[in-house]
Amino acid sequence: MAKEVVCPPCGKAIRGEHDDELVANVINHAKVHGHELGDTDRSQILSEAREI
Ligand SMILES: [Zn+2]
Repeated sequence: MAKEVVCPPCGKAIRGEHDDELVANVINHAKVHGHELGDTDRSQILSEAREI
């Protein structure tokens, strides 16, 4: 089941085909766009994700 989270700073939807890919994409997106992830961790990312 693919999942999606919306990046709070820029509103972009970030998707992954599974949990690991979603988390990796979120971390990569934050790096590329210069967002601070702060104390956001894997479980927090997944708790905010919705299935698509
Ligand atoms: Zn963003």
